[in-house]
Amino acid sequence: MIEAEAAGEGRLADRLARAITLAGPIPVSRFMAAANAEYYAKARAIGAAGDFITAPEISQMFGEMIGAWIADLWGRAGRPAVHYVELGPGRGTLAADALRTMAKASLTPTVHFVETSPRLRAEQAARVPGAIWHDDVSTLPDDAPLVVVANEFFDALPIEQIVRGQGGWHRRLVACQDTLFLPIAGPVMPEAIVPEHLRDAPVGSLIESSPASVGVVRELAARLARQGGAALIVDYGYDGPALGETLQAVRGHGFANPFDAPGEVDLSAHVDFAVLGAAGQVAGATVHGPVPQRDFLGQLGIATRAAALAKASPPRADEIGSAHARLTGADAMGTLFRAMALTGSGWPQPAGFA
Ligand code: SAH
Repeated sequence: MIEAEAAGEGRLADRLARAITLAGPIPVSRFMAAANAEYYAKARAIGAAGDFITAPEISQMFGEMIGAWIADLWGRAGRPAVHYVELGPGRGTLAADALRTMAKASLTPTVHFVETSPRLRAEQAARVPGAIWHDDVSTLPDDAPLVVVANEFFDALPIEQIVRGQGGWHRRLVACQDTLFLPIAGPVMPEAIVPEHLRDAPVGSLIESSPASVGVVRELAARLARQGGAALIVDYGYDGPALGETLQAVRGHGFANPFDAPGEVDLSAHVDFAVLGAAGQVAGATVHGPVPQRDFLGQLGIATRAAALAKASPPRADEIGSAHARLTGADAMGTLFRAMALTGSGWPQPAGFA
């Protein structure tokens, strides 16, 4: 029902308001899924001129380091035929930079993009001709190992929230009064779904989870266990389950209320690396990290790459230096962002996680 409303005509806020008035409040996950599907269907979300900027849009060095990481691992795996897979490739910048670096090591994989936004698919096609698109991971090829990259993908997937009330933990729902969306406490959930060490948290405490993210990691890990290959997940996150709300809305490089203006702001939540790592391991993959982005890029040699780029182009030296600092600085993306890898049967230890 909500999915049908989200795909219809007119403003998403109006369609969601009508759907909630007719059928009642909806889970936070359905609100977030509908809002982000609409949001990413617009152009200009990502980049300096958009609402937020991501690592590959800051500098070509980010995609190049990831390309070098894949080429190194592939070389040590015996140079098999592989598929390059990217989840939520945005404008296609990371893929273009990584594929260019891989080609220098004679690695020219077929390219598969998991992307739901038609507008972003068109941008990706312009930067990476010949890619094949998928709506989700279930249709990825099964005839060769997969090397998978997901940068700031999992933070965009829908989350559930539960809130501690007087009588137990309630699933959080989104209601609508007039045209205002607001979170409310829904039905009490069975205590078994609440992690044991958090059950006695004070009234008002909130716990997030992302069943959608766990589902994707499980499927990927099972593929890696069967087909071989590796996956690299880079995102901002924590080791949960933990108390606290991380759902946030970003618009024009600033924060907004997540329940205002669905479809017009980017909704994201911090990624629970502990839960995703455990899901990957249970499904048969070997888990590496997570490590801070600063350590991952540092071990791969980003300082050497920055120096080489600055030497080749002295007028850009300042810009390259500040991009390096943004990607690795403790006060920028260096420690908030983390990298975690999954590898499949017979694949070697990936670089960057020592
Ligand atoms: N990786 C890119 C873009 C990050 S933004 C970068 O680093 O710049 C999130 C990306 O995930 C966008 O491409 C968005 O369209 C895509 N996306 C969000 N939800 C998705 C879903 N459920 N299925 C597939 N792609 C999704």
